[in-house]
Amino acid sequence: MINFTFVRTTTAKAAVGLVTKEKNARFIAGGTNLVDLMKRGVTAPERLIDINGVPLKQIELAGDVLHIGALASNSAVAEHELVKLHFPLLSLALQAGASQQLRNVATVGGNMMQRTRCGYFYDTTMPCNKRAPGTGCGAITGYNRMHAIFGTSEQCIAVHPSDMCVGLVALDAMVVLAGPKGERKLKFIDFHKLAGTTPEKDNNLLPGEMIIRLEIPLNKVAANSHYVKVRDRASYAFALVSVAAGLQLQGDKIVDVRLAMGGVAHKPWRLLEAEAFLKGKTATEANFKAAAALVMKNAKAYKENAFKLQMAPNTLIEALNLAKSKA
Ligand code: SF4
Repeated sequence: MINFTFVRTTTAKAAVGLVTKEKNARFIAGGTNLVDLMKRGVTAPERLIDINGVPLKQIELAGDVLHIGALASNSAVAEHELVKLHFPLLSLALQAGASQQLRNVATVGGNMMQRTRCGYFYDTTMPCNKRAPGTGCGAITGYNRMHAIFGTSEQCIAVHPSDMCVGLVALDAMVVLAGPKGERKLKFIDFHKLAGTTPEKDNNLLPGEMIIRLEIPLNKVAANSHYVKVRDRASYAFALVSVAAGLQLQGDKIVDVRLAMGGVAHKPWRLLEAEAFLKGKTATEANFKAAAALVMKNAKAYKENAFKLQMAPNTLIEALNLAKSKA
């Protein structure tokens, strides 16, 4: 680990000013991923800007939109009555992530900013285009059991590790950002990016920008929603495949539907084509299977992760059946 300086701030404006002024500065809140990355030499910021003193922990309704501050802890959001009532799939997704101790410390903003868990990314002796652009990708011809099957590039096949973000992309969340030029809003689906030719970048944040809050509009899929995570052990493991599913039903007819998948792409993977297919149809096993087939038509497996080609559609069908059964 290299030497770094540490400063505390209490306003977003001061935090943005500091991170803009310093060449190699990073925000730190819970630090549950950043400190690991620093210890392993994957990243080496020269200045850490502690933003824990900025008042961004609110979880509250503003009209028909839930506001969640970027510094709300993962456990506070998962256990909040408003989240459990209006967005149960988000609560379930959060509870499926990490461990209770980590969820108590990790923040919503940090969860969005966490980096892939690809082993080559964390091993500084190995090639990795994400950690060291231009060095190659160890995973494409190496150990790629946990890796992506959708939206991959020739430079990186890593997956985004978050469960929470899979829930948020399904819920049409918005992200409010503060930057040197003021505030802006970004659709959650546009926050993270595919690897493409710039795998070193995980998201579309502009230099100096800080996550301020999430805004999630109320919807009518809460009564019939679920989050299913398939992983190697029952707790404290990243998803092989996960699915967030929400259905608004009128009898057996699907009026509205939200679907997203995790563990399969460089960003939380919204299933818009499957949603369009299911809208207006009856909630039957046959239609769920047909939607899953649509999702999988663009999938591409690597040597070790071909099992995801079966696991992904099966998990989607299971999540839809579980969502439907809550009626
Ligand atoms: Fe690095 Fe991405 Fe390849 Fe993993 S998949 S080794 S993160 S470039």
